[in-house]
Amino acid sequence: MERIYFDNAATTPVAPEVVEAMLPYIQYQFGNASSVHHFGKGVKVILEDTRDLVADFLKCKPKEVFFTSGGTESDNFAIKGPTFHFLNSGKNHIITTSIEHSALNESVKYLNERFGTEITYIKPERDGSIDPQKILAAVTPKTHLISMMHANNELGVVNDIKTIADNTDRNEIIFHADTVQSIGKTAFNTKDFNVNIACMSGHKIYGPKGIGVMYIKDGTPIDKLIHGGKQERNMRGGTENIAGVVGLKRALEILIDRMDEDLRHYKQLKGYFKAKLQEYYPEGIIINGDSAHTLDNIINISFDQNYFDVDSETLLINLDLKGTACSSGSACTSGSPQPSRILMELGLDYQTALCSVRVSFGRDNTTEEVDKFFDIVRGIAKKRSIN
Ligand code: PLP
Repeated sequence: MERIYFDNAATTPVAPEVVEAMLPYIQYQFGNASSVHHFGKGVKVILEDTRDLVADFLKCKPKEVFFTSGGTESDNFAIKGPTFHFLNSGKNHIITTSIEHSALNESVKYLNERFGTEITYIKPERDGSIDPQKILAAVTPKTHLISMMHANNELGVVNDIKTIADNTDRNEIIFHADTVQSIGKTAFNTKDFNVNIACMSGHKIYGPKGIGVMYIKDGTPIDKLIHGGKQERNMRGGTENIAGVVGLKRALEILIDRMDEDLRHYKQLKGYFKAKLQEYYPEGIIINGDSAHTLDNIINISFDQNYFDVDSETLLINLDLKGTACSSGSACTSGSPQPSRILMELGLDYQTALCSVRVSFGRDNTTEEVDKFFDIVRGIAKKRSIN
């Protein structure tokens, strides 16, 4: 069976060029970048070349780029680092939103439970966007951090983080944007968006898993999270994942080369998908997070339970059995029978939220696959008979 992979927001396939670039660094160039001898020096060069490339891409200085193990570590660092820095200073208040990825959500929850950090959760508007004015209005003299997504991983909604960043007193408050989903899918750089901290994950951009980036603007008050050696200019201990760095470098080179093409492709697929949706289901389908600015690689739909007789679990399992991989929530929470907390925050009723699918497109997807998806869905999601 030819399988359709519509779960690219969970992870992307690793580009063949990335695998090819990484292999020598797994097999032969195994040196430790901290070693002063030939083996170490060889890999240190690629580490710093990659840092330069990331800095170019993010429009920042190489010394503001730190390699991590991925998006989750970067988010933990971005939230715990500043909070630990300000602990016992009287500043202990974080503003975030109620629709964050668990990497962020669980970090702030931990800080609240362990250190009494006050957390303000701003709720989304009905279209899934966060009103910048609500974030700004929540600032108090105790606020040390605003931490929120640029693009939402379940809905694709892109938040106006620039307005928040530009209107926050940056001498007093650190602004962290979780850019894991937005990088490569919409415009982002640290200069135009004026953030203190941003994050990247290799496996969301056709690179390997286990490698990520954290941008930390020079001068940002932040404690290190991982103690150990003096790697990453003494900001993140641990022997560097050179093969991962090499993979990230190649993935980024490819992304820089073809981002416009990627964006056109996602736009075409989403347009086609929406047209088919309208053709087959003129009523009864809700597009979640259909805001003015949504990523073109993500579409999240719910089957209104007044119209359809189907539940999310059987929907996803049946889709998988028929060869189509989608997601019902973020990858980290799928498998749980609970409806997505993000969709519940949008105000969907429990049953309708349960009966939702996130389709996320990638480079290799085609309109023929969208056709096949609808052939399968039409066999599964049956309209309720009226009497
Ligand atoms: N932040 C967002 C918005 C995400 O979508 C994800 C992964 O889905 C993460 C953070 C975590 O990234 P990683 O899988 O690299 O740990």
